[in-house]
Amino acid sequence: MKKYMCIHYNGTWQNLTCRAGVAYRDVTPDPDEREGSALRLPCIDPVAQNAEPTMISGTRRPLSESQLAHIARRGTCEKLRLPTDEEIAEDKRQSDARFKEHMDNIKNDICPTHKIPIVKKQVGRCVYAEPCGCRLYQGKI
Ligand SMILES: [Zn+2]
Repeated sequence: MKKYMCIHYNGTWQNLTCRAGVAYRDVTPDPDEREGSALRLPCIDPVAQNAEPTMISGTRRPLSESQLAHIARRGTCEKLRLPTDEEIAEDKRQSDARFKEHMDNIKNDICPTHKIPIVKKQVGRCVYAEPCGCRLYQGKI
């Protein structure tokens, strides 16, 4: 959950409509013009997104003239709602809890996907779970 992204947004690659039932095509100007269509979508504010520091270098390239031209043509959506600070904090709490549960399961020899007892097996650079075969992580046991 990001402060610059509508709470209904669920990804345009996997979905034709958002969680509020709005068809992405209906709120994207010139939806068949593929170049820049993500920048014309109302669901994500690309200027605010670009202002976020990256995890690795910390900075992003400035938006290009071409990108800014697409952003100037952004669509609108009456269902657009950005998350509150409380919703973002709660989402982070839940995400952190899921991550901790996942890591605890691996540590305690339980498959995080299947919730069954496992034996860790080194295969090349990765560690897999037996008997289900799930890849647990890259590294050594
Ligand atoms: Zn498994």
